[in-house]
Amino acid sequence: MSSVKETILEINLAHLTHNYTYLRSKLTPKVKLLAVVKAAGYGSDAIVIAKHLENIGADYFAVAYVSEGIALRDAGIQTPILVLHPQPVNFSTLIEYQLEPSLYSPRILREFIAIAEAKEQKEYPVHIKFNTGLNRLGLWENDVDYIMDRLNKTSSIKIKSLFSHLAASEDHNEKEFTINQINSFKKTASEMIDKLGYTPILHQCNTSGILNYPEAHFDMVRAGIGLYGYGNEAIYRDQLKPVASLKSVISQIHMLEPGETLGYNRAFIADGFIKTATIPIGHADGIGRQYGNKKGFVTINGNKAFIIGNVCMDMIMIDITNIECKEGDEVIIFDNESSAALIAESAGTISYELLTAISPRVKRVIIDNN
Ligand SMILES: *Cc1c(COP(=O)(O)O)cnc(C)c1O
Repeated sequence: MSSVKETILEINLAHLTHNYTYLRSKLTPKVKLLAVVKAAGYGSDAIVIAKHLENIGADYFAVAYVSEGIALRDAGIQTPILVLHPQPVNFSTLIEYQLEPSLYSPRILREFIAIAEAKEQKEYPVHIKFNTGLNRLGLWENDVDYIMDRLNKTSSIKIKSLFSHLAASEDHNEKEFTINQINSFKKTASEMIDKLGYTPILHQCNTSGILNYPEAHFDMVRAGIGLYGYGNEAIYRDQLKPVASLKSVISQIHMLEPGETLGYNRAFIADGFIKTATIPIGHADGIGRQYGNKKGFVTINGNKAFIIGNVCMDMIMIDITNIECKEGDEVIIFDNESSAALIAESAGTISYELLTAISPRVKRVIIDNN
């Protein structure tokens, strides 16, 4: 691989295939896999990711917002797309683009039916979201009669799936809570199925649910972070492969004398002779200020180098006092070996946040070894 000459985010499609195959191996053959490609495919490139996953057999996609679904349709994606968090102002557009809404409250159900009827839809596919304890979005078990009453008065929509979302599927200390969520979903779903007279697709698991709760796979699972190479637990580091690698380059090297300071607000003060490197990536690229002042680190020629001083908009400075390197050398912010989960954790956050923060200014480079 040629050496890096500017800040880039490499997107490795062989790793995506690997992760997809790994997650599939955890499912019985009848269980569908919905790939979550919201937030630019967890900060990578939603279109590239969705096209690849469509080719290798993903059954469904999910995005958060209608605009994300439109971008996929405009790129030629044909697979059904669930919109997890739509707003009524976009319902008409959602229908025009054949996107499928999550109906998560009585108000949203009502408003969607009104638009579907106005647009003369017949059995438009919708997904009913039940709250089983996350208390974020969702209808409650005691809304079942209301939902049925609305459904019985219209032929404009048809329920394609019933689903819910787990609050703590990665946390083994919350097993009892999770099992209660699973049982609550089973109960509400069977009540709905009895009243509907047909059986929609049932789904409840995100990545950690797939890995930790096989009894809750139902008919479909919703995989996000796992597809991108993170399992939320150390044991999956050897099983999954990070799809995105963030790389940059040393722009300039400086020598500081004892007492000299570095960067804005003089946040770093040299306590001896310090060698620093300036890297062209900053908070406008997605490396937030929480990574400054030795919370975050990068890797240069295999050595860990801490970010020192405050993170600037377009650059960070790192301590390379004991590292053999020169201007123009490659810098790894995260990759397969030094994962986004590690650097995120060292700054008190999670891989999801670091990955999805990488801004559009960073050039995406697709690596497709197939
Ligand atoms: C984002 C999201 C997912 C994916 O979760 P991961 O932990 O990334 O696998 C699944 N379901 C819903 C409702 C989501 O919002």
